[in-house]
Amino acid sequence: MGRQADAPTRRAALGFGVGMAGLAAAPAVAEAAAGPRRADVIVVGAGFAGLTAARELRAAGHSVAVLEADDRVGGRTKPGQIAGEVVDLGGQWVGPTQTRLLALAKAMGVAVYPQYATGKNLIDIAGHRAAYQGEIPALEPSAMAEFAQVVGKIEALSAAAPMPDPWTAPGAEALDAQTIESWLLANAETPAVRSAIRLIVRAVLSSEASQVSMLAFAAYASAAGSFSELIATRGGAQDAVFEGGVWQLAAKMAADLGPAVTLGAPAVSIAQDDAGVTVSTPKGDWRGRYVVVTAPPPLASRIAYAPALPAMRDGLTQRMPLGCVIKVHIAYARPFWREQGLTGLVLSDRTEFGPWFDHSPQDGSHGALVGFYDGGPAQAWADRSPDERKTQTLADIARYFGEAAQSPTGYLEEVWTRAPLHRGGYVCVPGPGVLTAFGPALRAPVGRIHWAGTETAEAWVGYIDGAIRSGERAAAEVGALL
Ligand SMILES: Cc1cc2nc3c(=O)[nH]c(=O)nc-3n(C[C@H](O)[C@H](O)[C@H](O)COP(=O)(O)OP(=O)(O)OC[C@H]3O[C@@H](n4cnc5c(N)ncnc54)[C@H](O)[C@@H]3O)c2cc1C
Repeated sequence: MGRQADAPTRRAALGFGVGMAGLAAAPAVAEAAAGPRRADVIVVGAGFAGLTAARELRAAGHSVAVLEADDRVGGRTKPGQIAGEVVDLGGQWVGPTQTRLLALAKAMGVAVYPQYATGKNLIDIAGHRAAYQGEIPALEPSAMAEFAQVVGKIEALSAAAPMPDPWTAPGAEALDAQTIESWLLANAETPAVRSAIRLIVRAVLSSEASQVSMLAFAAYASAAGSFSELIATRGGAQDAVFEGGVWQLAAKMAADLGPAVTLGAPAVSIAQDDAGVTVSTPKGDWRGRYVVVTAPPPLASRIAYAPALPAMRDGLTQRMPLGCVIKVHIAYARPFWREQGLTGLVLSDRTEFGPWFDHSPQDGSHGALVGFYDGGPAQAWADRSPDERKTQTLADIARYFGEAAQSPTGYLEEVWTRAPLHRGGYVCVPGPGVLTAFGPALRAPVGRIHWAGTETAEAWVGYIDGAIRSGERAAAEVGALL
């Protein structure tokens, strides 16, 4: 074990609403003159993957230093405040098989409660509008049989996509040569079925069906257990939410790590030699025996590596863009859609905004909706003004919930696609041909550099649960070498 260096001079400030950048400011010049700070393992990124890796390594007796580019922890999870409630501007929901995230919440004393799902969902696809109960979207009756067939085919492809190495499946190359869109055109004839699958892909991946490899989609569903689990509310990935928001789990993990976390410290370069690694940031250098990089591939590619990364790994980071997403919370005096017998869930191909869900507080003290601009609409609306987006959002909701939707008491949004340190969400999506050509580089260490982050997860890729699992895996890999 290297010299304990978990206690540099600065402290991570973690309170919600606190301006953390100022508190984390440090005399970089003096520290640089004193030489690099040291820890056994340097962790790049303080999202759920990085914080988990650091916790695990420290629990195993190793010293860690976590370097985070942003002025807060949490990465693609982030707190916001609307109508007196703390809400999640990034990751939010948890499902019953996301056992690592549920275990973390339990250990930290944070409760979850079910996503509101009482009443009927609304669907409006290919000109057919319906209210329905349960998890199977009620398309026009003549499309339902084909929809079931297509879902069955996706489930079969997902079951045949072996995680964690889907590129090894028989027929992987042929599937990877197709986008979801080209597969859909070959496997579905009904416009309503095509439109529904396109909308689901947007909602699940924040990307267009034409931008994602069909093998990657099958693997994504496989990592979640099944396609159905990805899209379901009850029993699926949208089953429950956290009292007070999921971000607080990241804040609590960082508080436990204390001064080992340094904010506002982007890793600019990583140099490795026979004895260790040096990670350079504008706040000085850190020296360790190993480094765990948890930044998603398009952000990890901004770091300068010496020696240069192998072509496989460098190629991968150039070919896994983040999806496009804008998340919006809207508060109302009361959840008036419940009075119409509605759950609040709306899936429509006539709106820019959507899908959206009920996110009213448990005590029903006011009404709240949460929803997304995903994929193409996020790309189209990211560069518009907040007022234009608000007008569009409220008009889209009013189309289904009536004029009361035009009188919110609060409006809050996060344009992830324009957040320079994050560059989008929810997850990086390989296009056609990427996984079969570059997939093996996803988790393969490069010398003393180990990779984590939800994109590298073996289960629940793209989700917080997957991020935690990836942090645990990377910590185990490095721990075995120390
Ligand atoms: C709008 C939205 C909604 C979502 N909804 C859900 C949901 O409901 N449920 C769910 O489970 N998941 C959801 N997700 C996905 C989930 O948030 C992510 O899968 C998860 O948070 C990823 O964690 P991570 O640690 O792998 O990566 P990140 O959270 O991205 O963490 C990586 C960290 O690395 C930092 N970093 C980058 N480059 C550097 C550098 N050079 N030096 C230092 N630090 C660097 C970044 O600032 C970031 O903090 C959502 C995401 C978004 C954006």
